[in-house]
Amino acid sequence: MAKNIPVIDTEACIACGNCEAVCPGVFRLNESLGHSEVINPTGAPEDQIQIAIDQCPAQCISWQEAAD
Ligand code: SF4
Repeated sequence: MAKNIPVIDTEACIACGNCEAVCPGVFRLNESLGHSEVINPTGAPEDQIQIAIDQCPAQCISWQEAAD
């Protein structure tokens, strides 16, 4: 079954760090690159990831269907 995974539009990310604060097992702010990264797309329940998506001030995190 296909899973949904979060992806970050790194061009739009303003590196606020909120996604890491909400889901530290999924997102990490990479200060040298100046944006956050997905370190483990299944590192938190989807509900928790959805909170990070909803709170992202740049609205640059979205769900993408993962290939099997
Ligand atoms: S919450 Fe959004 S803008 Fe902030 S670091 Fe995460 S992806 Fe970037």
